[in-house]
Amino acid sequence: MIKKILVANRGEIAIRVMRTCREMGIESVAVFSEADRNSMHVRYADEAYFIGPAASAESYLVVDKIIEVAKHCKADAVHPGYGFLSENAGFADRCEQEGIIFIGPSSFAINTMGDKITARKKMLGAGVPVVPGTSEPIMEIGKAFEVIRQIGLPVMVKASAGGGGKGMRLIHEESEIESGIQAAKSEALAAFGNDAVYIEKYIDSPHHIEFQILADKHGHCIHLFERECSVQRRHQKVVEETPSPIMTPEVRKEMGAYAVAAAKAVNYSSAGTIEFIVDDTLNYYFLEMNTRLQVEHPITERVVGVDLVKEQINIANNLPLRFKQDDLKQNGHAIEVRIYAEDPDNNFMPSPGQVKHITEPLGLGVRHDGYVYEGYTIPMYYDPMISKLIVWAPSRPEAIERMKRALYAYKITGIKTSIPFLSRIMNTPDFVKGGYNTHFIQNNKQYLKPNDTASQRLRDVAAITTFIDYLSKAEPKTTVSNNGSKASNWKAFGRKKSLNRL
Ligand code: ADP
Repeated sequence: MIKKILVANRGEIAIRVMRTCREMGIESVAVFSEADRNSMHVRYADEAYFIGPAASAESYLVVDKIIEVAKHCKADAVHPGYGFLSENAGFADRCEQEGIIFIGPSSFAINTMGDKITARKKMLGAGVPVVPGTSEPIMEIGKAFEVIRQIGLPVMVKASAGGGGKGMRLIHEESEIESGIQAAKSEALAAFGNDAVYIEKYIDSPHHIEFQILADKHGHCIHLFERECSVQRRHQKVVEETPSPIMTPEVRKEMGAYAVAAAKAVNYSSAGTIEFIVDDTLNYYFLEMNTRLQVEHPITERVVGVDLVKEQINIANNLPLRFKQDDLKQNGHAIEVRIYAEDPDNNFMPSPGQVKHITEPLGLGVRHDGYVYEGYTIPMYYDPMISKLIVWAPSRPEAIERMKRALYAYKITGIKTSIPFLSRIMNTPDFVKGGYNTHFIQNNKQYLKPNDTASQRLRDVAAITTFIDYLSKAEPKTTVSNNGSKASNWKAFGRKKSLNRL
């Protein structure tokens, strides 16, 4: 049984994994770069080791350094979190060669699903619906024209090694084909060292819906229902919720079964996510599989009542899954927002710097997975996400109100954060209605734009008008009291208020 886990990551996800280790009586080991000496994950761990300069290419991404620490501290397993080495098949193999358990799937599953063209082929073979398009890399431009004429414009050109929304181009017209492919190729080469791209039909009014799966090493695989991740900025998720507001029980069952089939096709074990793109009429297509823990996993944990990291560790310990598909149910509604150190009112410019003051939201149904504290300086070298705020409530409308309340209570000074932007999302009619797609942010600019002073003044006037209106409706007109003197409306209002308060 695993007794000590090295968490090969930083920030909120490192702490999140270590929390479960502590609950399971497992020791946790942190690694940290020069820029992370004062990071909370270092303080939280039982042991911590320095692994080099701030640049992740010289620290968190260096396999040899992580392995060296794991061997030195006699960790029997490594948890990679998300990002960094989490989807690096070479790292998973290396751990195995060194006799260290990699808490994640096999390198075969990582490799197959990590290359989108290979994954598409595999899914086609397993009978899982994929977006219409090519299953080979585009080698010559003539072929691209031919394929695009067959599937029809618009199309997406996507990097086979893609991730994080990089190496992707939307093409509306034939005149854009050549430049679009070139742009996607060079972006892919720069980001992933691999310029293979393929073509997919562009799905209109797309919804991003993904299924969480868990699979053990004994051939059992289940899904833990869906997450709706259609609130996106530059193809990156901003808000996630479960259940999806557009899902029906029938489609959920079908998609869940396909998610399990997809995972089984690569002999998957551990936690993983099957992403689908879904149109307005609930036609769905496999998009990709993420062979790791997702940023948004807490909403599933809350609604299904499962600690996904604990299950990952149990699976790594060779234990069979503890539940069957029919044991699992969705209970209530959960929403997660990602808090970034960036200025939403200045084109989302990163805003690293020192946190002067922080008041974290608390109270019924609130979970906050973060890592910053008062006096902490957010380094500029890593992803600017500083925390995730997750709320749960029995119903979606209540969850939205709870999220508004939690965001209202969340105060950080010293740096700019995306909190005001997230509050605006919670107040946007399309979000409240729930049928939104990935164009949500683009389509709701008037609700999401910064509060300028003119609109603030309009809101002030509206608030005063509402108050005066309330007074005139709530109160009797000036009355003559028994002793014949005039009673003030203000006094009466004050009395009524204090009575109401009782
Ligand atoms: P990455 O691995 O870079 O995150 P994905 O394939 O997961 O890329 O796609 C990211 C997002 O891009 C999706 O959630 C969706 O919003 C959009 N997208 C990708 N493919 C398509 C498509 N064929 N049609 C419409 N939107 C798409």
